[in-house]
Amino acid sequence: MSDGTTSMGKKGRKIVHIKCRRCGRVSFHRRKGYCASCGFGRSRRIRGHSWVVKKKDRC
Ligand SMILES: [Zn+2]
Repeated sequence: MSDGTTSMGKKGRKIVHIKCRRCGRVSFHRRKGYCASCGFGRSRRIRGHSWVVKKKDRC
């Protein structure tokens, strides 16, 4: 192993995102105080953009 890019992945293993109580995903940022997934704590409306492609049910 070289100490180049290969070892960069294990840098800073602190718990940043905790479980969001609105969407249930581990995307709630502790320090910032909002969820990266649904936007809880940031805005009242659920975060969503047109470019966010959620899992669609394709029949
Ligand atoms: Zn959320």
